[in-house]
Amino acid sequence: MNDSANPVSRRTDEPAAREQPLVAIVGGGITGLAAACELRELAPRAEIRLFEAQPRLGGVLQTERRGGYLLEQSADNFITDLPWGVDFCQRLGLAAELLPTTEGSRRAGIVSRGRIEPLPAGFALLAPSKVGPLLASRLLSPWGKLRLACEYFVPRRRQEGDESFANFARRRIGREAYERIAQPLVSGIYTADPERLSMQAALARFVEMERSSGSLIRAARRTSSASAARDQGPRYSLFVAPHGGMHALIAAAAQRLPRESLHLSSAVTRLQRVPDDRGGSTWKLQWRSESRPDPQQLRASAVVLALPSRAAATLLEGVDPPLADDLEAIEYAGCTIALVGCRREQLTAPLDGFGFVVPEVERRPILACSYASEKFPGRAPAGHVLLRVFLGGACHPEMNELTDVRLRELVLGQLGELLGLSGEPDLFHLVRWSDAMPQYYLGHTERVARIEGALRRWPTLALAGNAYHGVGVPQCIHSGQLAARRVAAALG
Ligand SMILES: Cc1cc2nc3c(=O)[nH]c(=O)nc-3n(C[C@H](O)[C@H](O)[C@H](O)COP(=O)(O)OP(=O)(O)OC[C@H]3O[C@@H](n4cnc5c(N)ncnc54)[C@H](O)[C@@H]3O)c2cc1C
Repeated sequence: MNDSANPVSRRTDEPAAREQPLVAIVGGGITGLAAACELRELAPRAEIRLFEAQPRLGGVLQTERRGGYLLEQSADNFITDLPWGVDFCQRLGLAAELLPTTEGSRRAGIVSRGRIEPLPAGFALLAPSKVGPLLASRLLSPWGKLRLACEYFVPRRRQEGDESFANFARRRIGREAYERIAQPLVSGIYTADPERLSMQAALARFVEMERSSGSLIRAARRTSSASAARDQGPRYSLFVAPHGGMHALIAAAAQRLPRESLHLSSAVTRLQRVPDDRGGSTWKLQWRSESRPDPQQLRASAVVLALPSRAAATLLEGVDPPLADDLEAIEYAGCTIALVGCRREQLTAPLDGFGFVVPEVERRPILACSYASEKFPGRAPAGHVLLRVFLGGACHPEMNELTDVRLRELVLGQLGELLGLSGEPDLFHLVRWSDAMPQYYLGHTERVARIEGALRRWPTLALAGNAYHGVGVPQCIHSGQLAARRVAAALG
């Protein structure tokens, strides 16, 4: 969007005391767009200005079509057992676009001693709800299975307070089931260091299962029989994606907003509290756009920072240093995705399921591989497959430093060994993300509570995004909506 044609550019330093309040939303990813859409409904009187540093909206959610492949640069689906993603799609008129995962492919594999073994049916991250498939599985030794079964009798944890995921898992299900099953499954979601990942912040439902049932197995069996009795067939599969890819959400949300409210290529560089002309104070934002060499500014009645927490910290340094320090302290990790497209007959192994994850103990350079074309239709041309291979994460930052040539060599080598890939792929595309994944480490819950406590000093300021209460797309949408509700309430 061209800023010179933008009414805000001309309107500098205006008073905040105005009939129509102005709300500035900083960050044009899914969180900022969800906040903007919510605010349009809750406070139709408010004028919204959304600032995005990049020339296009969407943040990490970007979809590209190339040679018949549909390439997702980050998320390629979202979960439906949290309502916010599906609800948002319904409100945007996108519900009919949502594809379920392909029937029959809803299984995950785990690499074990060089082979891809199926995850035993009924195993949910840390807790098996079925015994039979576990006994038949080749993932664990007889001793590992016995130790896992003993989880039933492991006493509840006595100490209060948070615990790392690695500790919790080893304590409850034993070292082998942790190393061979739970660690790779959880790392596939959080790309985190398991010795530092906070159970409270990232996996609280398992802490609650232990607390309420005394055993994860007991709790998982109860939940699975209760949901079997309740379910008349789910309306959505556990994961869904828009037919045209994740960017469809971004495009549909942007369409709900007046064109003139969107400021692309506009990085907000400064946020201040300044006196208003009624003896109070208001927000003043400064931003730079590509089309104008000099910084521009405006005053806003309320501000939503829908940003990675470190970017929010930079803007809040001069406003509230202790709040900025807590935001700055949330760590992020990078990761690289290799998108590989090839003819199906170039693989000797069947693509059975959604893909596979790789335990650390296997000592391989990749974290996981998702069979994108097998999960959703329309991701690869007929007779071809699309694979998404993940590398890096918090435990392997060195992977993100490798050259494109070396990464290609490593990825194709691994796909050769594990899936029998031969010959040159017809697509090889690398997406490198630095600092895109917030790490919910021990102390995260307390830090977020402090951040939220500090926000009580600033009722017209809201923080939203993946750094606080969940990294997935539905949680981001929800956090944007909550931020909109907060500022709408403050504006009255
Ligand atoms: C590789 C990867 C795979 C993922 N897979 C999944 C998945 O399968 N399912 C799922 O549910 N989730 C997944 N996620 C998580 C999910 O996609 C993200 O958490 C979510 O999209 C983040 O959205 P956001 O709007 O909060 O942040 P972002 O997308 O990071 O958007 C923030 C925006 O703020 C802008 N910005 C920064 N500073 C400024 C500034 N000063 N001024 C103006 N603008 C600024 C940035 O340019 C950016 O566009 C994945 C994430 C990654 C990285």
